[in-house]
Amino acid sequence: MACERKEETMDVRAYAAMAAGDELVPWSFTRRDLGAHDVAIDITHSGICHSDIHRVREEWQSQVFPIVPGHEIIGLVTAVGDGVSRFSVGQRVGVGVYIDSCRECENCLSGEGNYCEKGMIETFAGFEKDGVTPTQGGYSTGIVVDENYVLSVPEGLDSAAGAPLMCAGITVYAPLERFGAGPGKRVGVVGLGGLGHLAVRFAKAMGAEVTVFSHSLNKREDALELGADHFVYSDDSEHMESLSKSLDIVVNTVSAPLDPAPYLSLLGLGGVLVFVGISGQPYPVNAFDLLNQRRMIAGSTIGSVAQLQQMLDFAAEHGVEASVEVISASDINAAYERVINSDVHYRFVIDASTF
Ligand code: NAP
Ligand code: ZN
Ligand code: ZN
Repeated sequence: MACERKEETMDVRAYAAMAAGDELVPWSFTRRDLGAHDVAIDITHSGICHSDIHRVREEWQSQVFPIVPGHEIIGLVTAVGDGVSRFSVGQRVGVGVYIDSCRECENCLSGEGNYCEKGMIETFAGFEKDGVTPTQGGYSTGIVVDENYVLSVPEGLDSAAGAPLMCAGITVYAPLERFGAGPGKRVGVVGLGGLGHLAVRFAKAMGAEVTVFSHSLNKREDALELGADHFVYSDDSEHMESLSKSLDIVVNTVSAPLDPAPYLSLLGLGGVLVFVGISGQPYPVNAFDLLNQRRMIAGSTIGSVAQLQQMLDFAAEHGVEASVEVISASDINAAYERVINSDVHYRFVIDASTF
């Protein structure tokens, strides 16, 4: 028995930030032993989300270091616990932003563990169920995850271009679906980065008319190539004002503070401005901007496990994947700088064999 457990121990190579704001460096650690309901995964691809950067720079809250970021994971199953029924060795799987939740609260019981009342257990920068062991993410060669939080990756999806769906994809898919993006709906996407470019692709695949709002004039061609119907340079206030009351759903994916007023004024009757971008700063809102056209402001965080599977299947069916630049682990710090400078086209994905 002891011998069997030893074989199941997973030593991994990783990249970690050892202190707030530090560059990421190579690091090694051991994953937890394989439990009865666990799946051991050899990671092949790991996306870089702006949330990774917010976390390692402590832009949201103080953190416990070292941090191995990463929550856009695709890999292959290498071992399963005795009680695992849904996965088998060799299968291609994905792991997203959370790897567990209390499973007892109303939201967990209704299948929305991402809104667990006790807080979901995040793939990295959180704590395991014991409340003291930090969770470590996907910038590593392997991970051990409870089968209930592992996703099956449909055959049609490429591993590199599919990895960003595990966070960026679901984060935009869920509110688009919830607020009814589809034929006849006019959707605005603010910020053309990792989340934004997938929002364009998903909204188009759902049948909506899509307008991109970007503070980077040089992204016009890309936006149209991604399928957007219109592009608006957000510093062009005349153009912005001319679009007053013309949209139904506006998704804000911007990672920096942003005045909501010009975006609220884009909404027609009952329209909604959904925040998925998280600058960590409060936003000023004038009630008149909401009363007018009885507009709404909403927030949304990733999606449930069931929604993740639905999103992956939808993506495979409609050919929605991320546009990616695959990089080596040694390029992570340079990639972070480019993300911060809005110079990502449109998701960096790390080849996990280079850790
Ligand atoms: P990203 O790739 O860096 O994209 C963000 C985009 O925002 C940039 O490409 C840029 O687009 C725009 N932007 C950046 N700085 C700006 C500024 N100063 N003024 C105006 N626009 C600016 O980031 P991401 O990975 O897509 O993540 C976006 C945000 O969503 C982050 O805050 C992240 O933490 C958050 N997030 C939330 C969830 C959730 O569950 N709610 C999940 C994942 C990520 P343009 O150049 O086109 O203007
Ligand atoms: Zn993310
Ligand atoms: Zn719960």
